[in-house]
Amino acid sequence: MKGIILDLDGTVYLGGHEIPGAGDFVRACHQRDIPCLFVTNRSNRTPAVVAAQLQGYGIECTAEDIWTSSQATAHYLEKGSAYTIGEPALGEALLAEGFTITDESPDYVIVGFDRSFTYAKLKLACNLIHKGARFIATNPDHGLPLHDRVAPGTGALVAAVATGSKTEPLFIGKPERRIMDMGAERMGLDPADILAVGDNLTTDIIAGQAAGMPTALILTGYSKRADLETAPVQPDYVVETYTELRDIVGV
Ligand SMILES: [Mg+2]
Repeated sequence: MKGIILDLDGTVYLGGHEIPGAGDFVRACHQRDIPCLFVTNRSNRTPAVVAAQLQGYGIECTAEDIWTSSQATAHYLEKGSAYTIGEPALGEALLAEGFTITDESPDYVIVGFDRSFTYAKLKLACNLIHKGARFIATNPDHGLPLHDRVAPGTGALVAAVATGSKTEPLFIGKPERRIMDMGAERMGLDPADILAVGDNLTTDIIAGQAAGMPTALILTGYSKRADLETAPVQPDYVVETYTELRDIVGV
């Protein structure tokens, strides 16, 4: 293994705490010159904000080691103009890649996570798509299960725009391989030499396999061992802890 791609939520941290061993794992990889890239579907936080969170847990990283679905979306698309439904991090990622943000005949309508989603935004997005803007979505996540409730995710907003515009979007984030392909490119490594580690069989593992990476499911978050029985794909490795993962990687 020459590089590691790690998911964040449920893999590196959960509920505001580091998952035990994550920081030590990253440090051990770095000591063997194995780079770690943190790849997340979350579109509403900038790499600097994510890096600061990880550093707060004592995890070695810089903003350069973070790859979000907003960055991947901005990097993937041919440069142009975009109307966005999303929080400021999405717009920042697009501006950094040379996009202009406008609601006047944009080339793209890009939907990410937006806690200020409104009917007015939905209506505008649908009309712009109707007039020819290409519909792009950062990711299709349904949402986050929280103890006694759910927090609807980007996928719920995307579904509203898809229904209202009668158009299906192009997705960039996991389970699509695009975000992983660009992650490998960013690391300068062959996908076959990168271990994709994540807690979700239906996003992390599907995306990693589709990109040609060996995959490891870590049972610290979303997916449970029993889910393997009905999973559409099987990971190469299943681990309960970072100690087991270190054995696999040899660090
Ligand atoms: Mg996760």
